[in-house]
Amino acid sequence: MKIKRPKQITYMETEKVICNRCGREFNPSGDFMVCEDGEPMEVHSYEFTCGYHSKIGDMTKIEFDLCDDCLMEFIEQFQISAMTPPENQYDEAAVQEFWDAFGQCSFSF
Ligand SMILES: [Zn+2]
Repeated sequence: MKIKRPKQITYMETEKVICNRCGREFNPSGDFMVCEDGEPMEVHSYEFTCGYHSKIGDMTKIEFDLCDDCLMEFIEQFQISAMTPPENQYDEAAVQEFWDAFGQCSFSF
């Protein structure tokens, strides 16, 4: 038998996000972020660690947040597009093929 007692758990929630590039502040509002001027906008978080032989520095940790405006300005500088329209990310034929094959399987337990 386990005898339990209440335990308070504290967790951290995002109070606001500051775009590392432009410095604007964004506050959570429901399921999205809102800029200081009230414009709803997504803020994208990036976090990675540089590997060995990186020019930035072995095991250097990089963390930053970019608002939509700054991310768009950044990726528009790319020589090769980094954007894929949502309709191209979903190959309906491949999904249908998967479900056709899955539907033919039988399971026994
Ligand atoms: Zn920004």
